[in-house]
Amino acid sequence: MADHCDDHEGCCCGGHHDHEHEGGCCGSHGHGGGCCGGGCHDDGRDQIAMFVVGPIETNCYAYISQGECMVVDAGDSGQAIYEHLPEDVRVKCIVATHGHGDHVGGVKALKEATGATFAMSPRDAEMASHAGEKNELGLSYDDDAPAPDLELREGDTLEVGTASFRVIEAPGHTPGGLVLLGSGSADHICFVGDTLFKGSVGRTDISGGDQAALEETLVRLKREIPPHTNVFCGHGDPTTMEDELAQNPYLR
Ligand SMILES: [Zn+2]
Ligand SMILES: [Zn+2]
Repeated sequence: MADHCDDHEGCCCGGHHDHEHEGGCCGSHGHGGGCCGGGCHDDGRDQIAMFVVGPIETNCYAYISQGECMVVDAGDSGQAIYEHLPEDVRVKCIVATHGHGDHVGGVKALKEATGATFAMSPRDAEMASHAGEKNELGLSYDDDAPAPDLELREGDTLEVGTASFRVIEAPGHTPGGLVLLGSGSADHICFVGDTLFKGSVGRTDISGGDQAALEETLVRLKREIPPHTNVFCGHGDPTTMEDELAQNPYLR
């Protein structure tokens, strides 16, 4: 995968990040449904599980609070994600941070298995509806995404147990990119999709990309996301806003 990433074939990142994991089926990465390493929410109640799915190792997250679950980016292997979730949780919603196939290809199967509400920006819904077709990078994912049950826009909130996530529109990598900033029991938690990575940002040279929009979004995220926030990215390792402000060349 590192080769793919470095020459910008098949990867969503704008620069490079460490691809130290092989495979990419659900539950690889050593986090098979358990709490992820390095970024676990540590309040003793809410949990974040991370699954790495699909051919370009997309991170799928399950945020669990009070028996309710929000799945972020069911990119592939929807049925396998379902089978790896704890049995006693109710999947309330499936949220796509954006419409690229590697983030929505598993939505159809997971929605069918759980009956959950599917939510995303309407601006990326058309793109997501082609996730099962071969894309410009020669990759395809499980299924086309269904039309969203819930269209997310700036300022909307998603409630999961005692956690709340505010929607921040983050165009650039795609027109309908979203960032989910936690509060309540999800204070200090943020899901950023492919907008921001550890040491890098989302590429803008593929379908839906807009470099000027991304730059505006990054300026805004520096203002909106508090430094102490744990940042969960669409690919690669989690980070913190503080570390990115200090080290990410795209945030300077
Ligand atoms: Zn991606
Ligand atoms: Zn993407």
